[in-house]
Amino acid sequence: MQIVKTIEEVRKEVKQWKREGFSVGLVPTMGFLHEGHKSLIERAVKENDRVVVSDFVNPTQFGPTEDLASYPRDLERDAKLCREAGAMLLFHPEPEEMYFQDRTTSINMEGLTKELCGKSRPVHFSGVCTVVAKLFNIVTPDRAYFGEKDAQQLAVIKRMVRDLNFDIEIVGCPIIREEDGLAKSSRNTYLSPEERKAAVILSQSLKIGQEMIAQGEKDARKVKEAIVQNITTEPLAKIDYVEIVSFDTIEPISTIEGSVLTAIAVYIGKTRLIDNFILSGKGETYDNNNVKR
Ligand code: AMP
Repeated sequence: MQIVKTIEEVRKEVKQWKREGFSVGLVPTMGFLHEGHKSLIERAVKENDRVVVSDFVNPTQFGPTEDLASYPRDLERDAKLCREAGAMLLFHPEPEEMYFQDRTTSINMEGLTKELCGKSRPVHFSGVCTVVAKLFNIVTPDRAYFGEKDAQQLAVIKRMVRDLNFDIEIVGCPIIREEDGLAKSSRNTYLSPEERKAAVILSQSLKIGQEMIAQGEKDARKVKEAIVQNITTEPLAKIDYVEIVSFDTIEPISTIEGSVLTAIAVYIGKTRLIDNFILSGKGETYDNNNVKR
């Protein structure tokens, strides 16, 4: 596996692969990789001849008071995980390689970004869309892999690809969890041992909502209230949002039917964690073991 830092090197390699008739998969990440990222890379390796992983803490998706400077980084460990998972190229650019200082173009999505994380993180999705569009133009993959862990991001990227006619298949991959149910995240490293124990409240509360829906509850307000109520039993937890929305439009819904996303963001101490479950149009939900129920 090669590690490259420039756009030119990526383009050269991908062009050669394409001349040889190979399909290309892309897994965009911010690094500090874990089993969640690994599952995306392994899926990409299964479905493509060549896989590129990007490892870039993208400054434009962080707000001024967020954790850009402290975001964990470990290129050596990331490279090992990528190599073991079967990636062929690790793209690790510096911010100056990705962004012109006098840039004037960015992508702003009107719908889908107003609720959930878009509400608490106003610049976030413009930064995400812009960097992902740039990565799509640099790598020109056939398929790109995103985790359901960031469900709103997945919906936003799908919409951007549709609206801007990117000829790329977007593959959503299930959430990988710790044994106690906590969704794996690079930000889990911020948690103290006591906070780490408390963080189980996210998946535990979602499970309560999931079970209510499985038993036939259709009133989104009641499900939401039960989730909120359970989170508030944890003294270290502070709710940012608990919302039930359409997974296609990310607009709040009152009746649970069709494609539904139940998403939460909760501060555990100073660390903001997110989690969710998706109820698809066919009435499928994913349980904590990523098995369709
Ligand atoms: P990040 O490095 O946090 O920007 O994540 C890069 C990609 O990995 C995104 O598409 C995430 O949704 C995905 N991802 C992160 N954590 C998980 C997880 N626990 N399970 C599945 N995918 C994940």
